[in-house]
Amino acid sequence: MPYLPEKTKNGVKIGSVELIWANNSMDFFFSNSILIEDPESTLVDPSANFSYFESLASQKKVKRVLNTHYHIDHRSLNSLFRNAIFMCHELDLPSLSSLENYLKYADQVRDSEYIQWLEEIFSRLDIRDPYFSVTLKDGDLLPLKDQEVQVIHLPGHTPGHIGLFFKEISLLYTSDIDLTPLGPWYANISSSIEEFQQSIDRIRHMDCTYYATSHGKRVYTPDQFAEKLQRFANAFAIRENKILENLKKSPRNIEELSKIGIIYRKVQLASDPLKVSFERQMLEKHLDKLIRENKVHQEDKLWHLT
Ligand SMILES: [Zn+2]
Repeated sequence: MPYLPEKTKNGVKIGSVELIWANNSMDFFFSNSILIEDPESTLVDPSANFSYFESLASQKKVKRVLNTHYHIDHRSLNSLFRNAIFMCHELDLPSLSSLENYLKYADQVRDSEYIQWLEEIFSRLDIRDPYFSVTLKDGDLLPLKDQEVQVIHLPGHTPGHIGLFFKEISLLYTSDIDLTPLGPWYANISSSIEEFQQSIDRIRHMDCTYYATSHGKRVYTPDQFAEKLQRFANAFAIRENKILENLKKSPRNIEELSKIGIIYRKVQLASDPLKVSFERQMLEKHLDKLIRENKVHQEDKLWHLT
C-alpha cells in the first residue's frame, strides 16, 4: 500500500515527510520547504513559513538544514537554525558562503537592476550565512537514521541545484524545476540551458508515486507530472523560435530583443526593470547557444540570422 498524503496545518504529510507550502508563493522570498522527521530531523530550504519554523527552532527539533541551491528564496529563514548542521551540493557552496560570489554568478552587468536588488535585500534582511560543513554530490544519501533520501544532482538552474528522491514514500522533489507557467528560469551567469534540459530528461525517466516542486501548493500524480514537465520543457524551443522569428524580420540588438516579450509578457517588462534584467540574461543564454549551433551571429552589436 502506498503512503497516502494527509493534510496538515501548513501543508501535506506523506509518511514522516511534511511538505510545507510557501505562505505566499507569489512573493519572491518564499519557496516550499520540507521537514523530514527522523531522530536526525532535517529541514530542506527553510523559507516557507516564519511562525512554524520559529516554533521548530525553539523546540530544537531540527538537526540539519539542507539548501537545494543558493537562491535567496530557498534560504531566507536559514538564520533561525544557527545551531544546525548545514548541507548543500558542493558546486553551490561558493555562492552560499559569500555574497560576493552570489553577485559574481548573478549578472555580469555589475550595476544591473538585478545586482542592485540583491544588494538591497541582503543588507535589509541582514542575511548572514552559516558555515556549511557537509557538501553533497549526486547519489549521496542524506544522513538520516530511519529512511533513505537520495540526492539527485539537477544542474542548469544553478550548477549545484539538487532534487531529492524519498525512497520509502516514493516521492521525487524537483525543487526549482518547478513546473510553473512561466517555464524554466536560467537568468544567472552560472545557469546553463543545456544542463537544464539534461536534468529535465533525467527526471522524466524517474518513476515515482508522488512528485512535488518548490513552488505551487500541490503533490502531482505521475500523469500530471509528465504532462506539466513536458509543457515546462517545451518552453526552451518556444523561446528560441520566437528569437529566430524576430531576427528574421530584422537584425536587433539585445536591448531591443529584451523588450519584445519573448519570455516574460510585454506588459510585465514594461513595469518591472528586474524582469527586463532576467529577460536579457536568458536571451543571452539562448543567443550563445544559437551561435554554437551556427544559427545566428553578431555584427556591430546587432544580432543576425546566419
Ligand atoms: Zn532558484
